[in-house]
Amino acid sequence: MKLKGKVAIVTGSTRGIGKAIAIRFAKEGARVVVNGVSDIKKCDDVVKEIKKFSGEAISILADVSKKADVEKMISETVKKFGRIDIIVNNAGILDMSDFLSLTEEHWDRILAVDLKGTFLCMQAAAKQMIKQGKNGKIVNISSIAGFVGFTRLAHYCAAKAGVIELTKEVAIELAPHKINVNAIAPGAIETDMTKDILADPQALKGFLGLIPLGRIGKPEDIASAALFLASDDANYVTGATLIVDGGWTIQ
Ligand code: NAP
Repeated sequence: MKLKGKVAIVTGSTRGIGKAIAIRFAKEGARVVVNGVSDIKKCDDVVKEIKKFSGEAISILADVSKKADVEKMISETVKKFGRIDIIVNNAGILDMSDFLSLTEEHWDRILAVDLKGTFLCMQAAAKQMIKQGKNGKIVNISSIAGFVGFTRLAHYCAAKAGVIELTKEVAIELAPHKINVNAIAPGAIETDMTKDILADPQALKGFLGLIPLGRIGKPEDIASAALFLASDDANYVTGATLIVDGGWTIQ
């Protein structure tokens, strides 16, 4: 029970990586906010799964790219659970476009959710953590696309690289408040985001050839890393980006 008594918000936790993190945190004793943007029922389904093993969770629908939604999510969490100890900024979207055809709308949408959303959630949560006057943990989900180039993903790579730099900068400013700010850079993980690419046998073979550990990652692989960074085990870790990619980027 590494998170006993803690309150954690996991953005984008209706499915995929966020859902695995929400479930893992609840199993470790945290009271969890399950968030999504499209349908409260999807949040409620995850809350039900958590309640099945006597975990505690609530649903909050909020668009992380909108400041008013983020502030409402923070205030509803405090109203319900009294505090916020951990926020995992996981909500994200991806779409592909050749650089020369990339529209301003596409660029703005990816940057709004994947980078601005992380900024808005970090800032609103940090203000609450500072009010509480105790340790806080912020974990941002970046991507190996923040380190290396991926074709047709100029906007996504820029957003995810931004998350890594934002993590380092904010780690310095929040350190005096005993708030640790770290990021995770997943490689290829089996979720809705990657299911079309991974369903193509040739693309899958190509990916596997790049991954020394010889398999695509599971959302639970990222949940384990998030648990470490959200727990007291990481009290002396800040500004770091933990790469969880089966070794993809080491060669
Ligand atoms: P996913 O399966 O597509 O799930 C995305 C989640 O984000 C859903 O819960 C979705 O909610 C939520 N979301 C989307 N836009 C939102 C918004 N504006 N406000 C609040 N929530 C929003 O994605 P995933 O693969 O689990 O990815 C999770 C994170 O990991 C993302 O940041 C992604 O970039 C990053 N990542 C993924 C991989 C990978 O291989 N899968 C690799 C590296 C990094 P709804 O269900 O309501 O739409």
